[in-house]
Amino acid sequence: MSDKPNEKPKAGSQPGWGTLAVHGGEPRGKAFDAVTTPIVQSATYAFKDTAEIARYFEGDLDREEYGRYGNPTVRAAEAKLAALEGAEDAALFPSGMSAVTTAMFALLKSGDHVILTSDGYRRTRQFVTVILARLGVEHTLVKPDDERALLAALRPGQTRIIIGESPTNPYLRVADLALFARARDACPGANLLVDATFATPINQRPLEGGADLVLHSCTKYLGGHNDLLAGALCGRAPLVSLIKDLRGVLGGVLDPQSAFLLIRGLKTLPLRVRRQNETALNVARWLEQHARVREVFYPGLESHPDHALATRTMSGFGGVVSFRVRGDAQATSRVVDACRLATIAPSLGATETLIEQPALMSYFDKTTEEREAIGIYDDLVRLSVGLEDADDIIADLAQALT
Ligand SMILES: *Cc1c(COP(=O)(O)O)cnc(C)c1O
Repeated sequence: MSDKPNEKPKAGSQPGWGTLAVHGGEPRGKAFDAVTTPIVQSATYAFKDTAEIARYFEGDLDREEYGRYGNPTVRAAEAKLAALEGAEDAALFPSGMSAVTTAMFALLKSGDHVILTSDGYRRTRQFVTVILARLGVEHTLVKPDDERALLAALRPGQTRIIIGESPTNPYLRVADLALFARARDACPGANLLVDATFATPINQRPLEGGADLVLHSCTKYLGGHNDLLAGALCGRAPLVSLIKDLRGVLGGVLDPQSAFLLIRGLKTLPLRVRRQNETALNVARWLEQHARVREVFYPGLESHPDHALATRTMSGFGGVVSFRVRGDAQATSRVVDACRLATIAPSLGATETLIEQPALMSYFDKTTEEREAIGIYDDLVRLSVGLEDADDIIADLAQALT
């Protein structure tokens, strides 16, 4: 392993990443002889006669019916993502949160139990610990590297979902997904859902490691241009089909414009991720030797607690680097404010380099003490490298840190 991803997703006759990204999931001949998949902006679809409706409902016809049940542009984006993830099928949603909440409603009923990691995405945690709790779904929070706690939390027959996430925000902790798969195997009826938003299909392959479902906020790397919101679930066809059926009821469907932008983004995913892996490693190494930087968190650095695990299980370390500035909250804000290239904004994984101070962004409502109790320091900065030149990103940080 190095910071360069494999040239091919799998050995053998599989096409390489670039070919899969450009052509995967899309038919060679497209509507109107277009070279790209068109945006089909139609809410509903016409039947020739009532006999065609009957044939459709008998399953003899592969066609669209009504926009909440499917759209050709969205289907093409789903097929491309499934090809890149090595999944039988994928389902798209209007946001990552819509994807994860729909999956949980599809798999859970009152009295069931969910295991989630304490460092997982904040809104997913809120959904499970507050909203699902209100509906009678129980949960246990475990530390992601505590195998004993994970195994102790299993309730065979009651635990239906184990949620893992890797790498995590903002410390880029890498979870041993094999450990999660073993826990799932010990618990018949449980599904392992992995939020792989930070990893992308290029850097990590959770389905090959035994995950049942992979979640992506496509708002981040998969869309990759800070111009769309979308979410996706990838996995075995029957499981994804179950989730799509509920999507048609709950109504959280992706619009065809965003699906088109996602297809466009996915075509350059391998290029972008490879470049962002490389830039982030350079930036992290540069930050690590800077006198005004207290600590750098990046799994590609030997100093990161999960460096060995990341090296073993990932083919790239990703584009997000977090670091602590020597100084208090105000001094840290001054560094962030002094950036000229990096834009102050939440989110990550796209063309523009984004910077934020988590204490002021995601955890604004908490006090310094409350933040420290959950490990969010006032002097912490999260940087998501974009596609600008590494030298320019470093020069920007250099002037901001002085
Ligand atoms: C952003 C994000 C989500 C939520 O996705 P949205 O598209 O914003 O709804 C979930 N998980 C992780 C790890 C994320 O970064």
